[in-house]
Amino acid sequence: MRNGVYVQDSSLCHCHRLRCIKGNLYGISQDIEHFWIRGIAMMTSRERFLAALRRQHVDRPSVANPTSIVTTDLQDKLGIHFPYAHQDATQMAALALAGHMELGYDVVSPIFAGGTHEAEALGVPVRWGDRGHMPACERSIWTTDDEIKIPDDFIDHPAIAVPLEAIRLLKHEIGTEVGIIGKVYGPWSMAYHCFGLSHFLKMTIKNPGMVSDILEKLKDVAVRFGRAQVEAGADALCYGAHITGDLIRPEAYPQFLEEIDQGMEAAIGAPLIFHCCGRTLDRIGYFNTNAQTAFHFESQNDPAEMKALAEMVLIGNINNPEIIRSGSCDDVRHAVFTALDADVNIIAPECAVPLDAPMANVRAVVESVLEYSASGRERAV
Ligand SMILES: [Zn+2]
Repeated sequence: MRNGVYVQDSSLCHCHRLRCIKGNLYGISQDIEHFWIRGIAMMTSRERFLAALRRQHVDRPSVANPTSIVTTDLQDKLGIHFPYAHQDATQMAALALAGHMELGYDVVSPIFAGGTHEAEALGVPVRWGDRGHMPACERSIWTTDDEIKIPDDFIDHPAIAVPLEAIRLLKHEIGTEVGIIGKVYGPWSMAYHCFGLSHFLKMTIKNPGMVSDILEKLKDVAVRFGRAQVEAGADALCYGAHITGDLIRPEAYPQFLEEIDQGMEAAIGAPLIFHCCGRTLDRIGYFNTNAQTAFHFESQNDPAEMKALAEMVLIGNINNPEIIRSGSCDDVRHAVFTALDADVNIIAPECAVPLDAPMANVRAVVESVLEYSASGRERAV
């Protein structure tokens, strides 16, 4: 392929193909780091990300996306496109790698989709989308908890095997220098895919006992897929828990999910980054008790207010629709500076970046953090 960097020679092994792609990437991360000269030994991206997750000293704030930062222009630049990058391990790894090498992020996050890998392996029909569309579930498959069946060979299903292989490739190629974030959907989010959003939410009122049974059965999906990602080389995992403000009351968390979520990080064996969209200031007090390391939060929540209430490490909260997708690099800079002033621990887009956002704005998140650090501006704490 001439207009991109994807190497299509199928006689090469996965590792070799990924190395060819890596060699062709521009290497922006090195370039922009030169901007940051202080005469002290620089941390590697992975060291910086892991130190930030542990609240240890960092040479500058980490920028690490728990969800997708892929855009259509990034896909075009690489010549690697959706849906193939969801279905081929080398393409998935290469597109994720561009998040570090082209955009300068401290991590790579190869699972771009939202729970559709697990859903397909459970039997949900999935539309895998295209260059401009993310994957989506076509319809639900179950109506009661007795119908839930997690196949014994769930982990070998191609929809699961591909991201695991992509993580292994990335671990082998850049795993000592760059953080790797995997992703699972917790049982609440997976229930939306398998039972349908409105059916499941209605059940929380009409049949709360069945909701608890469903969550108890579906938690195994996250544990099995999560453990396999950690074995493959993931340093941390995004844990989707869409128990979201515009869908359900805050008290649903302690009623249904808190106890299950409390065991998740230990069961999976790596730091979890709890992800819940929307306004969450009314429920962060509950999330604090779930024993997970970090919270990926949205810009609908004032970062200083969230910092005052959250006990978890905070990741986010740069707005997608108005700033990264429709704003200028200056708007990105303003949002990043506001989040850093509020001492948000790790800077990232608030959720998956819209595919039609300009790549320059996704990169501007990193450039703004470097500028903030170089200016010597003091953080709140
Ligand atoms: Zn989200």
